[in-house]
Amino acid sequence: MNSTGENDLSKLCIHTITTRPWKIEETAQHFSAAGIKGITVWRDALEGRNIKQTGKMLLDHDLTIVSLCRSGFFPAKDSNKRKSAIDDNRRAIDEAADLGTPMVVLVCGADPSQRLEDSRKQIQDGIGELIPHASTAGIRLAIEPLHPMYADTRSAINTMKQANDMAEEFNSPWVGVAVDVYHVWWDPFLEIEIKRCGENGHLTAFHICDWKVPTVDMLLDRGLMGEGCIPVKQIRSWVEAAGFNGFNEVEIFSTAYWKENQSEYLRKIIKAYKDHS
Ligand code: ZN
Repeated sequence: MNSTGENDLSKLCIHTITTRPWKIEETAQHFSAAGIKGITVWRDALEGRNIKQTGKMLLDHDLTIVSLCRSGFFPAKDSNKRKSAIDDNRRAIDEAADLGTPMVVLVCGADPSQRLEDSRKQIQDGIGELIPHASTAGIRLAIEPLHPMYADTRSAINTMKQANDMAEEFNSPWVGVAVDVYHVWWDPFLEIEIKRCGENGHLTAFHICDWKVPTVDMLLDRGLMGEGCIPVKQIRSWVEAAGFNGFNEVEIFSTAYWKENQSEYLRKIIKAYKDHS
C-alpha cells in the first residue's frame, strides 16, 4: 500500500488466462502500458511460439515473469498415464527455465476411479521424482491446494494443511506452496496454516480473485476482488504477516469477463485490485 492507503501496482501480477482473448504479445503490450509489473504465463499462451524469445519479449515490456501455470495431474490408476504425466511435468520445468521464470505451479490431480489416499500417494511420488530435475533447472514447484469441489478430478490436495504437510515432508528448497484465495478462503484453519507455511519458508505464491454468490459455474465463474464473499484483504494481511512479499496474482477464469472488451476489463481489474485487495 502507498501513503494514501491504496494499492499501487508494483506488486500486481496478472495471469495470461485472466485476459485469455488476448494473444501473449497483446497481453504484454496492454499490461506494460497500464503499469503492471508481473505476469504469470499459462502454457496455452505459449503454443506455437519460441519460448525463449517470448520470455525475452516479456522482459522487454518490463514484466517480471512470476510463474508458469501449470503442470501436475500426477494420479492415475494406469501406470502409463502416471509416467506420461511425469514426462509432461519435466517438459513444464524445461519450459519455465526457457521462459525465464523460477516457478511452476502444480495442480496436483486426482483420479476418481481410486481412493483419494491413493491419489495423494501418487502425487507425493510424482513430486519426489521431479525434484532432481527441478533442482538442476533451478525451478521451484508450488503445490496449490484446490477447493474440495475439485477433489474428483483436479486435486486430492484440498487444504493448506495438506499442502504444508507435503511440503514439509519433502523439506526441499524446490518445493513450496501456492495460496489461492478461491480455494482456501472457507478453511477455519487458514490463518494458522498460512503462518505455518511462511515460517517454514514454503509460501511461494499468492493468487487472488473472488467467490461470486451465487456461483453459476464451478470452473469459469470467478469474480473480481470485491464482487463476492472472500475477505481478500484479510487473507493478504495474513500472507504478508507470514513473511511473503511477492506478487499478488490476479487469476480469474470467467466466461462472462472473457466476452467483454478486454481493455475495459483490465481497467476493472486494476480498480478492483486498488480498492479490494
Ligand atoms: Zn491459483
